[in-house]
Amino acid sequence: MSLSAEADGFMRRALELGRHAADSGEGGPFGAVIVRDGAIVGEGWNRVIASSDPTAHGEVMAIRDACAQAGLFSLEGCDIYTSGEPCPMCLGAIYWARLRHVYFGFSIADAERVGFDDRRFYTELALPAAQRKIGQTQILGEEACDVLDAYLNQPDHPAY
Ligand SMILES: [Zn+2]
Repeated sequence: MSLSAEADGFMRRALELGRHAADSGEGGPFGAVIVRDGAIVGEGWNRVIASSDPTAHGEVMAIRDACAQAGLFSLEGCDIYTSGEPCPMCLGAIYWARLRHVYFGFSIADAERVGFDDRRFYTELALPAAQRKIGQTQILGEEACDVLDAYLNQPDHPAY
């Protein structure tokens, strides 16, 4: 589906970055751009292989780029155009960055065709913690809460 000439242009740039990631061997075929007031303010592409970093997804890289350029940790009012429907990690980063809207090209089902199994993570996260493959165990909860309390008691603790 085509949305508007402007939106299509941003998506084509995200797709171009995805091609670059794959052609250069830096990572999978995923790219993303962050848009504020009709202009690209950050770009990223998958660099999982190049940087030996499983978190170096296109969306995360684009968020880091936009935030670094703006000197801000919030991208409120910005949109993200990403070559593919975000995985749960990137969707979490999108929420943390306070992005306004997500435009994506291919779907998770499309990516599944070429071996990217994001659906598995969404399925896992929908399960109660006790039923997930990666176990979670709370230890030293009270001592850990002391760290929270110390933060809360800082006179000018930063809020985000
Ligand atoms: Zn991702």
